[in-house]
Amino acid sequence: MTAALEMAEAALANGDFPVGCVIADDSAVLVRSCRTGTAAGPPNEIDHAEINTLKELYVHAPLVDRTRLTLYCTMEPCLMCYGAILLSGIGRVVYAYEDVMGGGSACDRAGLPPLYRDARLTVISGVLRGESLILFQRFFTRTGNRYWADSLLSRYTLDQMAVP
Ligand SMILES: [Zn+2]
Repeated sequence: MTAALEMAEAALANGDFPVGCVIADDSAVLVRSCRTGTAAGPPNEIDHAEINTLKELYVHAPLVDRTRLTLYCTMEPCLMCYGAILLSGIGRVVYAYEDVMGGGSACDRAGLPPLYRDARLTVISGVLRGESLILFQRFFTRTGNRYWADSLLSRYTLDQMAVP
């Protein structure tokens, strides 16, 4: 998660929404990326950190057994990313900060088609949550950031200013 937080800090430094992601096996980080497409102009809702990192995996480690991999992300995957993670066959997701507005990892898969319903995936939440929260608080308090400004997520995040 520390490596994912470094990627989130890189996104924040670029003016982007501070989400970082890495995919690792038991011994090493294989690929890493971060959120892009939010720093200027209308936001791009495809280039999420998890999607960007999965694309890196397909390029740099296309033959790896994905069931043995863990995807670490500094924010809970949204519904789009959760679907992509399920389809990719990743074995485990670990995330830091919950996305109360768009998080998809708690959705009930029982009613979904078999490809999604039957995928084996372990989800672990809250790892280094405070460190990730600080980055989102810095983003939402920075003058000029319009991305999800005054949203449920921004209000929830800023309401926790006392949390370390
Ligand atoms: Zn996403």
